[in-house]
Amino acid sequence: MISFEKALDIILSSARYLGDERVDFTDSLDRVLAEDVFSDVDMPPFDKAAMDGFACRREDLPAELEVIETIAAGQIPEKSVGPGQCARIMTGAMIPEGADTVIMVEQTEVAGTERIRFTAAKTTPNIAYQAEDVKLGDVMWRKGQPIKPSHIAIFSAVGCTNPLVAIQPRVAILSTGDELVEPNEKPGPGKIRNSNAWQLMAQVTQAGCIPNYMGIVPDTKEDTDMAISKALAENDVVLLTGGVSMGDFDFVPEIMRKNKVDIRFQKVAVKPGRPTVFGVTEKSWIFGLPGNPVSSFINFEIFVKPLLYKLMGNEFKPVELILPIGVNFTRKKADRLEWVPVEITENAEVVPVSYHGSAHIHAVCLSNALLSVPVDKFEIAKGEFVNVRPI
Ligand code: AMP
Ligand code: MG
Repeated sequence: MISFEKALDIILSSARYLGDERVDFTDSLDRVLAEDVFSDVDMPPFDKAAMDGFACRREDLPAELEVIETIAAGQIPEKSVGPGQCARIMTGAMIPEGADTVIMVEQTEVAGTERIRFTAAKTTPNIAYQAEDVKLGDVMWRKGQPIKPSHIAIFSAVGCTNPLVAIQPRVAILSTGDELVEPNEKPGPGKIRNSNAWQLMAQVTQAGCIPNYMGIVPDTKEDTDMAISKALAENDVVLLTGGVSMGDFDFVPEIMRKNKVDIRFQKVAVKPGRPTVFGVTEKSWIFGLPGNPVSSFINFEIFVKPLLYKLMGNEFKPVELILPIGVNFTRKKADRLEWVPVEITENAEVVPVSYHGSAHIHAVCLSNALLSVPVDKFEIAKGEFVNVRPI
């Protein structure tokens, strides 16, 4: 049995970048950027009014001003503002020559035909200066970083309409088990619904990869062999659940070997999920995740996701919070790193939810984080600070 850290290291050191492609920027949401993106403009591109009001010379205030023109957003000012003058200006419009201040329309009153008066005691310039946000040539977003809605705004603003993005790994998902029926069926005696595959489909999608559901595999060596060989041939990553423990019908590791999978580990000191299997072929990565839904969920989060990120040139950095635990926590064995579904309460305390073990996926639904309990830690006293990962 190897440690969690060692297992993660084995997985990550086997990763290889899968390459990149150009896509239309409107299709780039949640993809990983594969090149640095630079700005081809200053932002703002010119000094512009930050308010609707009157562009004038600060030194003329608070005297009455003559309004010499109206400048709408998108227009070029025609006149230069001289002593005692101002231009009516709209938010986003170009500041005319001669002006250094925009007085807000709310702080003025009419003082005659095309004449106004400043009514406040003081004002800020209310000008957004050229290049104060971004300079031409600045790096806007970095290679290896995910693309979120604000990056789509930036790509739009700098004319990056075809960003280079990492190729998305294609991830096969298979469930093994004669007891499984699909969610749209009512399970007969001895049967349960297949929940792992659909959970993994969602997890793979959320990780920015392409899930490829390949069905339920009956518990025979022949079926397992056919399924693994087809999945390896057609995908970058293969995820199987079930069939990795010590039961009479747990063939997954044996059949992986038959399919030239170089198994890199078969037991990890984590709870849940000890029997997790990981291997590689010349072109693919394959995981045999334990059959229980909580194990499958957590092992995806802690092992599969870091690999998927790295295949896309990104680094998975889980958010880890250090918060006080709200109750005493004890356990009888401490030979494994344990992940416990918990709730981070409104007053930022960590409280384990009612949890009966790795089949109890509903406990994960009712939790909002995973508490990690390190190896050799038997007891955590109420008030002690613990590490939690929001999920
Ligand atoms: P196994 O690792 O195949 O022995 O499965 C361990 C436990 O997980 C058994 O109780 C299975 O019925 C359950 N299980 C296996 N696959 C799934 C699945 N796809 N969805 C829900 N439960 C499963
Ligand atoms: Mg099974």
